[in-house]
Amino acid sequence: MPAAPGGPRLLLRRLREAMAEPVSPQARLDRIVTLIAANVIAEVCSVYVLSDDNTLELFATEGLNRSAVHLTRMRADEGLVGLIAKTAEPLSLSDAQSHPAFSYRPETGEEAYHAFLGVPLLRAGNTLGVLVVQNLTYRVYSEEEIEALQTTAMVLSEMIASGELQSLAPGAGSAARRAVSQRGVALADGIGLGHVVLHEPRIIVKQLIAENLEREVERLEEAIGEVRSAIDDLVERGDSIGTGESREVLETVRMFAHDKGWLRRMREAVHSGLTAEAAVERVQSDNRARMMRQSDPYLRDRLHDLDDLANRLLRTLIGAESNGAHRELPENAILVARSMGPAALLEYDRASLRGVVLEEGGPTSHIAIVARALGIPAVGEIANATALCDAGDAIIVDGATGEIQVRPGPEIEAAYAEQVRLRARRQERYRALRDLPAVTKDGVAIGLQLNAGLLVDLTHLNESGAEGVGLFRTELQFMVAQRMPSAAEQQSLYEAVFTATGDLPVTIRTLDIGGDKILPYMPALEEENPALGWRAIRIGLDRPALLRVQLRALLRAASGRPLKIMFPMVATVDEFVRAKAIVDREKAHLRRHGHVLPSDCRLGVMVEVPSLLFQIDEIAKVADFLSVGSNDLMQFLFAVDRENRRVADRFDTLSVPALRAFRLIAQRAAAADCPVTICGEIGGKPLEAMALIGLGFRNLSMSPAAIGPVKAMVLGLDASAVAAVLDAEMKRAGDGASLRPVLTAFAKAHGVPI
Ligand code: PEP
Ligand code: MG
Repeated sequence: MPAAPGGPRLLLRRLREAMAEPVSPQARLDRIVTLIAANVIAEVCSVYVLSDDNTLELFATEGLNRSAVHLTRMRADEGLVGLIAKTAEPLSLSDAQSHPAFSYRPETGEEAYHAFLGVPLLRAGNTLGVLVVQNLTYRVYSEEEIEALQTTAMVLSEMIASGELQSLAPGAGSAARRAVSQRGVALADGIGLGHVVLHEPRIIVKQLIAENLEREVERLEEAIGEVRSAIDDLVERGDSIGTGESREVLETVRMFAHDKGWLRRMREAVHSGLTAEAAVERVQSDNRARMMRQSDPYLRDRLHDLDDLANRLLRTLIGAESNGAHRELPENAILVARSMGPAALLEYDRASLRGVVLEEGGPTSHIAIVARALGIPAVGEIANATALCDAGDAIIVDGATGEIQVRPGPEIEAAYAEQVRLRARRQERYRALRDLPAVTKDGVAIGLQLNAGLLVDLTHLNESGAEGVGLFRTELQFMVAQRMPSAAEQQSLYEAVFTATGDLPVTIRTLDIGGDKILPYMPALEEENPALGWRAIRIGLDRPALLRVQLRALLRAASGRPLKIMFPMVATVDEFVRAKAIVDREKAHLRRHGHVLPSDCRLGVMVEVPSLLFQIDEIAKVADFLSVGSNDLMQFLFAVDRENRRVADRFDTLSVPALRAFRLIAQRAAAADCPVTICGEIGGKPLEAMALIGLGFRNLSMSPAAIGPVKAMVLGLDASAVAAVLDAEMKRAGDGASLRPVLTAFAKAHGVPI
């Protein structure tokens, strides 16, 4: 391909004319390939469009056999064209036929051509098709030629995305609109059907081809300047503005804003004849395609930063408002976002919100915690979610499996709608149990309480019929805050908790930070084993100021009413005794200053470090109550990281060693007349809860959604029968085997719903 006679600029002008002509879509496409071939001096120019059944179809050609148009179809992973679609990268070969991926299509007559240059047709990082030029000679295409073809491809991508070519291949939709199913990670249970609302609406570039090149160059330079100074301002103002964007992130963004390679590519795109915004989008689209295929999380984050910057530039160029949260939502809205803070989610109108889809966000992210608390199905780690769907697209979020379905077909939609109906019926059955006391068939009363961490959780208190809050995780409030909550803020939060719980008991746990619970505003510690590191009560005792502020806020908030406080991660009796002494000092301080103290103040211990199993009598003697944190207890008992999916299934909480640990706690607490509750996840699973009752536990605290299923189990259970089974089986199964099969069989045989 010798130097093009008119260069890309002339070609783009011609393309603009072709786009404006009142001809049929096929005639326009034919004209376009002819123009491209002539402009770049290639014997062949062809367009392949990816359809929703994942095949690439020849839509137009100059140079190949025209009768093959709409007949030649190949799988999206077949041949050189398929390779380009798959990698979303240009492919330039001086001898195409010697490439291992070359696949020969006799109907096209392409055997005569040697040099081959293909580029993907990209839109928002998605491949919509492939544009190819071919030459008879063995030649090498230059960087500029590849760039020029990519710019040209953008015009074709817009033509495909607009739906204009739809009529050319009846029956097959374009890949841009096809149904997509993707699996990420489940963040919050539930199924949501609705329509896409983009948390940050995508900027649509309407004008692609420049009318006045100099003006576009100026516009781009002005926008770059504006964005740079806005970022400089942010960096200078630092954290005091409370944007939530840490300095480090901003510094990285600033670095990119001065990145020469990125700026050069955008400038080149403008010089090739695109408008400033089209140039930004063109470079952004390549970047997104790379981002989707990047598996290194660090590099992917950097590409995200660059993507952010491109969005800022586009907003500046188009004059779009920098978007804050839009509280109003259409009916059945599913929010789709790259990432979102918990505060942003809370600002949306919850009545219309049916689900959340994020490109980022692991199961322990704060947004996941908030979505779970609100009962909104949520899925995270969906690559390129914001580019996959357009506002208004039908979408289904499956928060149980972590899947999403974008533009689902009627069968998929019907299947999910059926699941939603089933779930609703089940919930209705549970609601009917709400006011029944949780008593087993043989008359054993079981206290069912709620685990909570945010004020919104407490709305479930009434509707679930729970008897109180067995675990209020105070750190969640700290985790979703932008900075350390002040003493006054803490006090008013706890007052709000007490107002919401009314006369029902609530057990407040002091800050359980460290390990996987990081406060964004506290300097992160580099620890080899954070789960075994400086966390929870250890921080509280080493930095008593932090603990004192929290305790004082709690004591003041509970003025005149009963208060139950418990301490996390206690490993020795002495730690609890020291924590208790701090409470006593705070009480004395408040008394001296004339404050009304809580009417009754009980102090408890979380049993979640195995060392307490060997001081169980002593701790039961000094603590007012115990609460078993089975999540951590199991993690430390079996030395299995609770967040590590690779080892998560290596042990069973219903295996004999685990059950013996639980039984030991239940029996010794009873002997010492010390009330004991289970507040780990295990208490919210019907089968496990059944076993715990068999071991002697009478109080369980769990997530709101678990109350119904566990109560249904309790109502169908004979507590002495399951206790007898456990007694017998735990004597025998000394090899660490799980009693899950035995317990499941017991439940089935006795009609206990699990
Ligand atoms: C536990 O460890 O079981 C527990 C309830 O606490 P968390 O899950 O907050 O560590
Ligand atoms: Mg714990």
